[in-house]
Amino acid sequence: MARNIGPSCRLCRREGAKLFLKGLRCSMDKCAFNRRSYPSGQHGKARTKLSDYGLQLREKQKVKRIYGVLERQFRRYFHEAVRTREGKTGETFLQFLERRLDNVILRAGFAVSLAQGRQFVRYGHVRVNGKKVDIPSFLAGVNDVITLQGKEKLMQQVKENLEITKDRIVPSWLKVDSTNIKAEVVRLPIREDVPFAVQEQLIVELYSK
Ligand code: SF4
Repeated sequence: MARNIGPSCRLCRREGAKLFLKGLRCSMDKCAFNRRSYPSGQHGKARTKLSDYGLQLREKQKVKRIYGVLERQFRRYFHEAVRTREGKTGETFLQFLERRLDNVILRAGFAVSLAQGRQFVRYGHVRVNGKKVDIPSFLAGVNDVITLQGKEKLMQQVKENLEITKDRIVPSWLKVDSTNIKAEVVRLPIREDVPFAVQEQLIVELYSK
């Protein structure tokens, strides 16, 4: 499982963007990126002009970190996107990432961070069409109904998360029923559904070399 065991905030500072890896803290004043948006380390503030390759590499690293995916799997999504030959490769690639089950749990508001969403999946609390799925990389498809099941403490936690994230914008490819803790995939996500700035073309160029 892809897991970052180092300080998450350092990754945001490295990529020069908020990657929202720590849930609630990311929207608070405590966010390390709000206070120091330059990379950590002695030469962090030094300006470096990136080459084309550097720009492509940083974009790839940023997206990889946002979705918490390791290189091998990330590259596999890319090759899969090339193989599908439907639409633009970069957009299909992002669609795969958005459809990951841990991401769906986050987008639905059942979890406050990707790490928490992944934990729910890993610990066997997530059902897809009534069947337990404990693989975070499972790709949700159209008409899939995602629910959570567990002890009272867990359900309470999910309800609290929904309350905390109630002002979020629920992507229109998901229909969320907060009362019954249920989300349905009504269509596949499209490029406009990706909720952060990304230049996927740079990643396509990098992997196409
Ligand atoms: Fe990044 Fe700020 Fe969240 Fe830390 S708190 S992971 S710096 S967005």
